[in-house]
Amino acid sequence: MSYDSDNIFAKILRGEIPCDKVYEDDHVLAFRDIQPQTPVHVLVIPKGGYSSFDDFSRDASEAEIAAFVRAAGQIARDLGVVADGYRVLANHGRDANQEVPHFHLHLFAGKPLGRMIKPLDK
Ligand code: AMP
Repeated sequence: MSYDSDNIFAKILRGEIPCDKVYEDDHVLAFRDIQPQTPVHVLVIPKGGYSSFDDFSRDASEAEIAAFVRAAGQIARDLGVVADGYRVLANHGRDANQEVPHFHLHLFAGKPLGRMIKPLDK
């Protein structure tokens, strides 16, 4: 899908709407999810215009990808969630129910998170 620069995270990046920022560098912004699903629920986004993990993994530069992965790990350490554990997750497309078409990693922590997905019905 082509990038929609009117999406809500693009507006956050342009400073048109506020966010509860937890981290920022040249390539990455991270902020708390507005509807947290766990006590710690942070969204990590690249500053570049990528719609999902699909085009980010294909088109982003080595520097952008390295910065993104390094930042996600650093944010978890800064939030103090490494010892008890955390989950990172990215939704792409319809079957994953992606709502915002700007690539983002969810970082969930702060309670036992259970199994990742339900086993398939046999
Ligand atoms: P996804 O379904 O992976 O696209 O997740 C989108 C996430 O963005 C959801 O968890 C929303 O609660 C979150 N979200 C939507 N608008 C905002 C906003 N203005 N600030 C922070 N998080 C938001």
